[in-house]
Amino acid sequence: TRIGIDAGGTLTKIAYWDRENKMSFKSFLSSDFQGVREWIENKHSSSAICLTGGRAEQLKKFLLSKQDLPYMVEFDATMNGVMYQMKQEVISSSSAIIANIGTGTSIHIMHDKTHSRIAGSGIGGGTLLGLGMALTGLTNYKEMIALSKDGKRSTIDVLVSDIYKDNKLPITGSLTASNFGGVTLKPEQARSRADLLAGIQGIIGEVVATLCIQAAEAHGVKDIIYIGSTLEENSLLQEIIESYTILKNKNPIFLEKHGYSGAIGALLEN
Ligand code: ADP
Repeated sequence: TRIGIDAGGTLTKIAYWDRENKMSFKSFLSSDFQGVREWIENKHSSSAICLTGGRAEQLKKFLLSKQDLPYMVEFDATMNGVMYQMKQEVISSSSAIIANIGTGTSIHIMHDKTHSRIAGSGIGGGTLLGLGMALTGLTNYKEMIALSKDGKRSTIDVLVSDIYKDNKLPITGSLTASNFGGVTLKPEQARSRADLLAGIQGIIGEVVATLCIQAAEAHGVKDIIYIGSTLEENSLLQEIIESYTILKNKNPIFLEKHGYSGAIGALLEN
């Protein structure tokens, strides 16, 4: 059989065909290449591997494979994986902005079968983990995400409506005027770790969505496809991104296997 491996900055994602010929998925921390090697040796030693991702070369050396493993350029693999998932989920779009929210964020435009990178930001999943750890001491991704869902952003952020209290609103009042500005401007309020984590999710979601909305405006497209493992089990981030994108009259699209597009693309290329 075959397997596609996307070795990223934080996570190494694997897509493979199981015994029933169903596409299946597995991920490891990229700090655990040993785990990746054992998984391949124990379960997939005779599989044909195709690699992609920024750490593919490092992983290749670690696997000490006799054969030279094929490598696919990350963005090509990601696009292939996105196209495949769209077909599976019966979503059609001939032109779209694609935002990959990985450790950092990269933004692409797709027209039919061509694509190019148009922007990027250091604000991404690594920021969520890093700021989350700095502000709460938590280190576990799933724990942070779960706790953030109980958080309230009202004590963390300043909304447009907080500033324009009795005045006529120049823009929608529910928009964030200042992410984390509430920490100094609403001093008496108690803030929990959950609130801080929800505030961090707000920064990531609003920055990424804003960049994508502006890119969509500049290129005259309506669909924005958001992918990357930062969306994994992360309904709060999805809601933040979705509501802001819709407010700005764009069409947000989320795919089921958020972080696995690169791995799927590499699997299908074999
Ligand atoms: P990369 O290819 O750069 O590794 P990903 O698309 O895999 O990027 O996204 C990495 C991000 O996904 C992390 O920064 C984190 O926010 C999030 N994430 C999701 N699941 C996990 C996990 N189990 N452990 C750590 N981070 C995770």
